[in-house]
Amino acid sequence: MFNSLSDRLTSTFKNLRGKGRLTEAQIDGTVREIRRALLDADVAVAVVRAFVAQVKERALGEEVSGSLNPGQQIVKIVNEELVGILGGETRRLNLAKTAPTVIMLAGLQGAGKTTLAGKLAKHLKAQGHTPLLVACDLQRPNAVKQLQVNGERAGVPVYAPHPGVSSEFESATGDPVAVARDGVAEAKSKLHDIVIVDTAGRLGIDTEMMQQAADIRAAVNPDEVLFVIDAMIGQDAVNTAQAFNEGVGVTGVVLTKLDGDARGGAALSVASVTGKPVMYASTGENLDDFEIFHPDRMASRILDMGDVLTLIEQAEANWDKGEAERMAKKFADREDFTLDDFLAQMAQIRKMGSMKKILGMMPGSQISRQQLEQFDESQMDRIEAIVRSMTQHERVAPKIINGSRRARIAKGSGVHVSEVNSMLERFGEAQKMMKKLASGGAIPGMPGGRG
Ligand code: GDP
Repeated sequence: MFNSLSDRLTSTFKNLRGKGRLTEAQIDGTVREIRRALLDADVAVAVVRAFVAQVKERALGEEVSGSLNPGQQIVKIVNEELVGILGGETRRLNLAKTAPTVIMLAGLQGAGKTTLAGKLAKHLKAQGHTPLLVACDLQRPNAVKQLQVNGERAGVPVYAPHPGVSSEFESATGDPVAVARDGVAEAKSKLHDIVIVDTAGRLGIDTEMMQQAADIRAAVNPDEVLFVIDAMIGQDAVNTAQAFNEGVGVTGVVLTKLDGDARGGAALSVASVTGKPVMYASTGENLDDFEIFHPDRMASRILDMGDVLTLIEQAEANWDKGEAERMAKKFADREDFTLDDFLAQMAQIRKMGSMKKILGMMPGSQISRQQLEQFDESQMDRIEAIVRSMTQHERVAPKIINGSRRARIAKGSGVHVSEVNSMLERFGEAQKMMKKLASGGAIPGMPGGRG
């Protein structure tokens, strides 16, 4: 999901990399691209309009931070705005002061409410709660049975108005409002600390359904009303969300079918028009396909920036400005990149954390998880040891490092000669690349690279 949106935004931001301070025209161009990307992702028009206006205003007004290039600054703004719309902090379930906590699920038929009820029950049970499921969807044939199957899979009891379920409240058969009320009473008497009320939906919004949901709400006074919505429904998400928010009143949103090829716009639209946070995500038909929704993670996923923002923050905190300027001056003066510089660069990078972590945080990185797992952190130590075993002269003029010097360096650093050879070979390539960069253009993250 979200692929086309993230691809579009990523290529937009790529064009901003390494450029100087942004002009208003450039900001306009970028904002136009963001607008297109969001519309293509099926985010509702009104939501897009408000979003880009906000991004533009901030991009124009933002203090220019010395350690971020303009592209990174826009990424930061877009990210912060996305996180804000999606609900800011990860929102936890609102638990009642006196048990049971009542959670009501509302949404259109087919949204995934009954499935979600089972998932939520399983999730809460794993956290030590003792949930009871209540089947108030008496409209859809089989909904009660389906909830019972899900309850059984989750190991959670189901209160249902059907013969065969022993309960003193069985008079409720047929009336969803009474079933809901009796379900909560059952939970109280059996000491369940959470009640999850599954309600009926229709294929489209209608007043009768809305009234029934509102009546259930009034009868059981839920602590949470979770609006369940199929992420695939795209532009329609706004109308549906608005209708439920006005007709029933919702406290949180659950997105379902995020495993499909939804373009992801629904998440932004629904969160934006209801002003309610997305709390959970459903990502498949199995009970375990369920996630707590983290707005910040979803925003980075939308941006496909990996954890680049963390990287940006760490760079801001740790980047040694003096060292960066020294390097920039070296490039400007067309001086050679030496092994001492190499050591200094490595130290700068390592200040940001382990290499594994840094590689893992790079957006669009070609490095697979498996390669990352296999990355040998001690290799960095060995490279450092090799350089430290060289004389000052050797570090500045690596060309003089012949066979006997290589053997001495290997011995001094406790590695095999072949490692010294491959290290020098790679350094040679890095040196060539640095030369090219110095004559060609800016070095990302370094002020003053020559354009
Ligand atoms: P309800 O009418 O709102 O109770 O919806 P259901 O829970 O019956 O779900 C409708 C259909 O969507 C069922 O076939 C579910 O298996 C399926 N479904 C529910 N959630 C997901 C999900 O996250 N991913 C996928 N792929 N299918 C889902």
